[in-house]
Amino acid sequence: MTADWSLSKVYNPRPGWYRGELHVHTVHSDGTHPPAQLAEWAKADGLDFLAITDHNRVDAFQQPYPPSDFLLIPGMEVTLQNGHFNVYGLQGRYDWLENVCIGMFTIKLSGKYETTTKLMRRTASLGLINSMNHPMRTPFNWRDGETELQYIHCLEIWNKPDAPDTNGSNSQAIALWTEWLKAGYRATAIGGSDHHTLKPFPGQKRSTERLGWPRNYVYAENLSGAAILAGLCAHQVYVSMGPEVSFQAQFNDTVYTIGADLGEVAGEIRLLADVCDCPMPAHAYILKNGSIVAQAVVEEGRATVECVDTLHPAEPAWYRLDIYDEAGLMLAITNPIYTGPAKIPLLKTFGDFVEGI
Ligand SMILES: [Zn+2]
Ligand SMILES: [Zn+2]
Repeated sequence: MTADWSLSKVYNPRPGWYRGELHVHTVHSDGTHPPAQLAEWAKADGLDFLAITDHNRVDAFQQPYPPSDFLLIPGMEVTLQNGHFNVYGLQGRYDWLENVCIGMFTIKLSGKYETTTKLMRRTASLGLINSMNHPMRTPFNWRDGETELQYIHCLEIWNKPDAPDTNGSNSQAIALWTEWLKAGYRATAIGGSDHHTLKPFPGQKRSTERLGWPRNYVYAENLSGAAILAGLCAHQVYVSMGPEVSFQAQFNDTVYTIGADLGEVAGEIRLLADVCDCPMPAHAYILKNGSIVAQAVVEEGRATVECVDTLHPAEPAWYRLDIYDEAGLMLAITNPIYTGPAKIPLLKTFGDFVEGI
């Protein structure tokens, strides 16, 4: 690992919402471009950071990263026969890499970490972030029903929208995430383009893949790998296919935003969402515990949605903003604002939520 891949290097000292891509393949696995080239394109496209997530390979981080003005976050897509998950924040040699980096793009776990739960427990214990990828996308869907959800920090709810088969599986992933939230799991919803190439596939005139499509807006204390990953852990994220949003809760003269946890409080809460730059006609919804409590039509790219609710200190609740186009496809989705006591999940494994695993 060279110093250029450090998580602590600060690219912008200001706190704010930063835009980035969290799922990309390079020439070091089955992508067609080196990290530096992808960084150049991402920067030109208005992104602030890019996570490199090659299949079972860390070679990219063993050489210096030439341009020093764009944040690349070292990660890897742990690519297993029964599911894929990204690990973010790699900073050295780890014992578990010996089980995963064995020279194949898809592997079956064996040895010291022979189950997904054992491996995820290990990576989580090392301070790395685990993100389950495209959980419902056949044939790459998650198929290990025994996986314990407690070690999953993020869930990729919107993957590779240029592939026609993902429309249905991405909507299913949002539905899965909603069930996790209802049960008490606060995994952070994120998106990823799963970018491999900017070259057209055979028979295509141009490539349909686009970096940062969807893009993740992450609130971070500054622009560094460490701060972006802290923002992911704190649920300070929304996923977008174009719109920019703000979603706030006002309570006792304090304003809270996406990812906040108000704790066990009582009284009136006001929820307020603003949408802008929406590229097409759409509907915006505020959800409470998965049910719509307010909505608005998005016209000429803009909308405001608001509502008032009463908080009870013993009642767990979460509020989020969803925006869908007229075909029902996600245009933006925020992580929740949480209130009340944290719910202790009774359901423990992936299989508890998905039938037929
Ligand atoms: Zn994958
Ligand atoms: Zn991938």
